[in-house]
Amino acid sequence: MYPQLLTYLFEFIKYQDQVIKTLQTLLIGKSMFDKPPEQPVNKPYRKLQVDELPIIEVPEKLDYQVLRTEFLAKHGKPLNPVRRHKNTKISVPKSLICPKCGAPSDYLYANNGAKGQYRCKVCTCLFSDKNRFLKEVILKCPHCSKSLEKIKERQDFDVFKCKNNECPYYQKKRNGMSSKEKKRFKKDPQAFKMRYIYRKFRIDFQPLSKESPELPIVDLSRIYSSPHVLGLTLTYHVNYGLSARKTAAIMQDVHGVAISHQTILNYVNSVALILKPYIDHYPYELSDQFCGDETYIRVNGRWHYLFFFFDAVKKIILSYPVSPNRDTISAIRAIDEVLLKMEDIPENLTFVVDGNPIYLLAQHFFAQNGISFDIKQVIGLTNEDPVSTEFRPLKQIIERLNRTFKGNYRSTHGFGSEKGSVSFVTLFVAYFNFLRPHASLEGKVPVTNPELLGLPTMPARWTKLIELAQQWIREQRIA
Ligand SMILES: [Zn+2]
Ligand SMILES: [Zn+2]
Repeated sequence: MYPQLLTYLFEFIKYQDQVIKTLQTLLIGKSMFDKPPEQPVNKPYRKLQVDELPIIEVPEKLDYQVLRTEFLAKHGKPLNPVRRHKNTKISVPKSLICPKCGAPSDYLYANNGAKGQYRCKVCTCLFSDKNRFLKEVILKCPHCSKSLEKIKERQDFDVFKCKNNECPYYQKKRNGMSSKEKKRFKKDPQAFKMRYIYRKFRIDFQPLSKESPELPIVDLSRIYSSPHVLGLTLTYHVNYGLSARKTAAIMQDVHGVAISHQTILNYVNSVALILKPYIDHYPYELSDQFCGDETYIRVNGRWHYLFFFFDAVKKIILSYPVSPNRDTISAIRAIDEVLLKMEDIPENLTFVVDGNPIYLLAQHFFAQNGISFDIKQVIGLTNEDPVSTEFRPLKQIIERLNRTFKGNYRSTHGFGSEKGSVSFVTLFVAYFNFLRPHASLEGKVPVTNPELLGLPTMPARWTKLIELAQQWIREQRIA
C-alpha cells in the first residue's frame, strides 16, 4: 500500500464526513451531533458559596486517672464514684464516658436528666449525648471565633452555621443589603446566605490510599491475527475517531482485511485492560498547574460525566473517571487520582476548574484530611473577574482537550456499556499522553519515550505501547 495514497484517501474520507455534517447542519438547522433533546442535567449551578475553613480546635484531653491521683494528693482522700440515690429514675448509660477526661459512667452525674445532659465529677465537663463529638473537636467561626452550630444533616455532610448576630461576616452581609433586598429578606430569608456556613464531610473515602494495580490477564495472541492489523484498527478508531463500523469498512476496502465492527470493539476492551494499569502508574513528570473539567458521554443510552484532570503545562491526562453523577464524591475521586500521581504534593498546587461548587466542596474535603491546594474557578464567559483573566488560558487548554476528545469520541455514538465507555476513554488517554504530538509542546508527544517515537508509523507505535504495557504487567507480577 502506498502511504501517500492512504493518507490522501483518509483525508478525503474525513473531508466527506465533514461535508455530510455541514449539509446536515444546514438541512436540519442544527447538527445531529449536538446533544440530543434529553440532555444531561445542566441546570445553572445553585448559588452555593463555600466559605473558608473554620477554626478547628482540638480541646486539651485530660486523663481521669491522673486527675484522681492529683485529687488524692491535694485533698488526702480519694475521689469516689458518684453515689446514686436508690430510687432515682434517671440512669447514666454504662457505655457513656466523659469526652474530656475519659472517666467511666460511674463518675458521671445525670445533670438535668431527661434532657440528656451530663456532668463529669472528675473534670467538671458538661456535655450531652448530642454534642459529645463537639467536645472532641470544636468548630469555630473564622470571623468571630464563636462555636458553630450544627443545623442540617445531608447525605454526604453536616452543615454548621455561625449563629452569632455580632459576627462580622453576618454584620457585613446585613449592612451591604439594599432596601429592596431587605424587604425581600423579610419575606424570604432562605433566599439569602447571610451567615458563615461550614460543611463537615462524612464521605467514606480515604484520600491517597494507594492500591496495588489491577493486573489483567489478557492474551492478545489469541484475539488478533497480526499486531499490524491491531495497530491499524486502533489508529483509525482512536487517533482519527472513526466509528468501529467505519474502521471495519476501511480495513476491508483499503487493506483487504475482513474484520467485524464487533471484533474491533472487543479489541478496544482488551487493549484498554492492558494499557490502563500502565498509563495509571506511569511515573509522569508533572508541574504544579492542573486543569479539570467535565464532559458528557453516553453510556447505555444515558448521559454520564467524564471528569478529565490534566497537567496544564505537560499536557498529560492524569485522571478520567466516568460517573453517572456530577457530584462531590466524583470530583473528590478525580482529584485524588491526580494527587496519587505526585511524589510530593507541591506547595503551590493549583487546580483550575469551572464554576461548579463540587470542586470547592472537594477542596474542603481534602483540607479536612490535611491535604491543601488552591482551587481557581473560571466562571462565566466575560473577563471581568480577575481570577478568570489570569487562568482563562488554562481553562481554554482543557476546553481544547475536551474538543479533541469529543472529536474522536462523537463518531462512536455513545457506548453500549460502561465498560465500553471506560475502554474508549482509556485508549484516548493512552493516545493523548503517549502518541499524539502536541502543537504547544513544539510538536512533541507529552510523554517522550524513544522506544515509541523512533518508530516510523502510528500502528507500529500502538503495538509497541501495548508491548511496553504487557512487559510492565509482567514485571509487576514478578515484583
Ligand atoms: Zn471528665
Ligand atoms: Zn461568626
